[in-house]
Amino acid sequence: MATNTVTQTVVVTNPVTQAVYEQVLSRNPGEPEFHQAVKEVLDCLGPVLNKHPQYLKAKILERLVEPERQLIFRVPWQDDNGEIHINRGFRVEFNSALGPYKGGIRFHPSVYLGIIKFLGFEQIFKNSLTGLQMGGAKGGTDFDPKGKSDSEVMRFCQSFMTELYRHIGPDTDVPAGDIGVGGREMGFMFGQYKRIKNAFEGVLTGKGLEWGGSLVRTEATGYGLIYIMDELLKDNAKSFDGLTVSISGSGNVAIFATQKVQQLGGKVITLSDSNGFIYDPDGVNLDTVKQTKLVERKRIKEYVSIHKNARYTEGCSGIWNVKCDVALPCATENELDRHAAEALAKNGCIAVAEGANMPCTPQAVDVFHSNNMLFVPGKAANAGGVAVSGLEMAQNSQRVFWTFEKADTELKNIMTTIYKNISQAAQEYDCPGNFVAGANIAGFIKVANAMLAQGLV
Ligand code: NDP
Repeated sequence: MATNTVTQTVVVTNPVTQAVYEQVLSRNPGEPEFHQAVKEVLDCLGPVLNKHPQYLKAKILERLVEPERQLIFRVPWQDDNGEIHINRGFRVEFNSALGPYKGGIRFHPSVYLGIIKFLGFEQIFKNSLTGLQMGGAKGGTDFDPKGKSDSEVMRFCQSFMTELYRHIGPDTDVPAGDIGVGGREMGFMFGQYKRIKNAFEGVLTGKGLEWGGSLVRTEATGYGLIYIMDELLKDNAKSFDGLTVSISGSGNVAIFATQKVQQLGGKVITLSDSNGFIYDPDGVNLDTVKQTKLVERKRIKEYVSIHKNARYTEGCSGIWNVKCDVALPCATENELDRHAAEALAKNGCIAVAEGANMPCTPQAVDVFHSNNMLFVPGKAANAGGVAVSGLEMAQNSQRVFWTFEKADTELKNIMTTIYKNISQAAQEYDCPGNFVAGANIAGFIKVANAMLAQGLV
């Protein structure tokens, strides 16, 4: 059984990582999310560099923080009234040491280059942890699909792909979905790619099941999050059965995390969207949530008009004041800060895992560690989505279609292996129980070795 004592700080001031970080700050001004993601990784690598000085000589860190390629492009489209709009599209192909670039596409008004770089950088280590052959990338646009008609979304997706197609391909770069990009958007983008290239090929993952998608891809991130948390709980002589779980978001990750928690006997009592959160002491009714969010595309507050015991609160931050045993932030970056972490600790929360990318601020993570709470960072905890995307690529290459059971078993095995690897790396580098360090170290070493082997490219 694992001990519940976490080694909090790994290495804070290493002159080499500090110098790399300062260079990142000066070369990438105005991109705080990217700085935050880089700092978290660099802060964990001091002991690795002491043990493997060959990484220093080959300037692996300096190369790793510089994307291999960054694309920014214009996306013009027309709304239903004939009015013209211009959005900005991005694809950052960060690192291809382990395989073709792989990472999602985000449609959200907050998207700018710094967000895509932070997500692309995280993706390098996440993809490495899955054990599959995938490099790291991310893409997106500041287009807001909310309130747009299906035909407007289609025209936008077609325009976006009309530029993106020339940079991607099944052996080059294989995008997937992310915030604001689900089955509908994937379909429109795939259709346009196929038309331009005259090729039906596995260039996107998260495709529809009738045209090259994989079973379990829709559920993968949420299920994977619960599989890895279940391993961690088991290692600490606990299980989801009977636990109260607080989840934020009400999109793809949140919905399927909720489903798996319920299957394992836990009770999910909160969900949210960018306007506010619901609290249902009876446990959220997932059929209502799916109908409201996935079918009707309405706001989460509609839930309380059906379930009279539930309460809706405007604004998102209060969600972490609700007493729970396990907290799973599944909405967006930096949604859980130090105050929220303190509230969770005070209310007896025992474990937190990141379904979203970087939803916890560094200060919140310090609070978890200093309170000996179990904590799994997103690059390990939400790797299930990209893992099944990797399995979708494998099925496409072989022209086969796996059963739900086979894909689900593979996902579970991958999440279990990730848990073992990050625990082992944390042990080996003298910070047992610190899965932030474990994930960064285990993810990094594989990429660094591949970069060394492939020469100065
Ligand atoms: P969805 O678009 O399906 O859902 C996102 C959810 O988060 C919605 O409920 C949305 O509310 C809420 N949200 C978005 N932005 C904000 C904000 N600024 N403040 C509060 N709530 C917000 O996205 P996913 O579920 O796919 O993604 C959620 C997170 O998980 C993201 O961080 C993503 O990068 C990460 N992730 C997703 C993977 C996947 O396979 N889908 C894989 C790995 C990570 P609203 O409807 O109001 O916008």
